[in-house]
Amino acid sequence: MKEIVVSPKSKFLKVRCPKCKHEQVIFGNCSTVVRCQKCSNVIAEPTGGKAKVKARILEILE
Ligand SMILES: [Zn+2]
Repeated sequence: MKEIVVSPKSKFLKVRCPKCKHEQVIFGNCSTVVRCQKCSNVIAEPTGGKAKVKARILEILE
């Protein structure tokens, strides 16, 4: 899967878990690993200020 590095300007992202299709809103500039609320699949990892998002981004909420 293609990984997207989100710019620090992006605030909230609506993402869909690739594993269980659960949709949730995550912080685009996370400092901790973000997991799916439903299946605990890792959705985003912090990479020095930016989040490396491993889920499909549906929408960017400014
Ligand atoms: Zn999931």
